Amino acid sequence: MRRNSCVFLLTLIAGLVMTGCSKEEVPTDTVVESSTVAEETVTMESSTVAEEVPEVDHSAEVAVVEGLSEDFVFGCDMSMLIAQENSGVVYYNEAGEEQDPLLTLANNGVDSIRIRIWNDPYDENGNGYGGGNNDTATAIAIGQRATEHGMSTFIDYHYSDFWADPKKQMLPKAWVGMTTEELADAIYAFTKDSLGQILAAGVDVSMVQLGNEITNGMCDEVNWNNIGMMLRSGCKAVRELEEEYGKEIQIVMHFANPHTADYQKLAMRLQNNEVDYDIFATSYYPFWNGTLENLQTVLQGIIDNYGKKVMVAEISYPYTFEDGDNNQNSLYENCGQRFDYEISEQGQAEAVRDCVEVLATYGENAAGIFYWEPAWIPVPGDTGMTRSEIWEKYGSGWASSYAAAYDPNDAGKYYGGSAWDNQALFDHEGNPLSSIQMFDMMKGE
Ligand code: CA
Repeated sequence: MRRNSCVFLLTLIAGLVMTGCSKEEVPTDTVVESSTVAEETVTMESSTVAEEVPEVDHSAEVAVVEGLSEDFVFGCDMSMLIAQENSGVVYYNEAGEEQDPLLTLANNGVDSIRIRIWNDPYDENGNGYGGGNNDTATAIAIGQRATEHGMSTFIDYHYSDFWADPKKQMLPKAWVGMTTEELADAIYAFTKDSLGQILAAGVDVSMVQLGNEITNGMCDEVNWNNIGMMLRSGCKAVRELEEEYGKEIQIVMHFANPHTADYQKLAMRLQNNEVDYDIFATSYYPFWNGTLENLQTVLQGIIDNYGKKVMVAEISYPYTFEDGDNNQNSLYENCGQRFDYEISEQGQAEAVRDCVEVLATYGENAAGIFYWEPAWIPVPGDTGMTRSEIWEKYGSGWASSYAAAYDPNDAGKYYGGSAWDNQALFDHEGNPLSSIQMFDMMKGE
């Protein structure tokens, strides 16, 4: 999910730095009880804490989560990676040495990397829309590196040329004007080709989601019989490739807003339309998406009534209210959202751990959890280019001005940088935060 929708326009000087704020209203009458750090706390090794990064407080600690199945996946969405690196962002390891952040994540217990794919996130002159300019080639580049570091990948098809979420599901440019049958065929062909390329490139794909946060529809379609036809078509492509490559790939359906959407009805529609999927996934942002008690209940219903595994495909939490790139963050002091945890590295780790603890109540029916964009930190501000110029050139902001023709009402007005830098697991200079160790700690490693 992209966090700039429903943005408000800030004043801009010389153009350019636009930003977003978050959108969803969270009920204020409910409080999540944050579980306390339990007795079985794993203490991190302090030997690698380097003196050259004194501003990082290496203190986050969380307890092991009991009851998870052996194949429970701890993942991160790293879709922005290539655009960030092209923009000159450098990441470090705990010893202060430059290091591939994918390796840093792998070394801290991350098992899988999620990567979004847009069909054609470029304008007619080849200028990227931003948000990582994530097309199939970008996914291959990230996926190959994840595979090298021993992690699986989770491919996220938006079936759009740019961000798809509950508020917008815009058709890819090439698909405009198609009938439902033609769209179903186009989804089959695109999925077969894109995923086929990724597998042929040697990327270890373990999960594929068809559509992104399709709570209110997909591909500019809201009729679930029609959506069902499209999804069956996407499933067919994945199943054929699964067989061709002799590889088990789990098909994921991904929704948003567990606190307001009717997940039982959505699962029923998938069942009625004979959509062949394995995992029912949701985004769960603690500050937007209601209580953990509610999350536990709605996902339990999916397991009990529909026999599917469940997963949290997106989660995050802020460690600071400081903005690193002058593109206002989705979350900031007094932004009106509900923060049940401290705004700190410890708070980040606890927010994620409490959600994992909920998932652990499902035992083998819980498939995993993915932290959203933990490395989307500020691009350098001292290279001779302004940050705005960098975002435009490399697609490292949430949207570039080039997205205007495709998405005039959102990206076209509010394009800019990262609204997420205060929710990363790396600080603004690229050093890993102590909260990055939460994955190993939850596993007891
Ligand atoms: Ca920012």
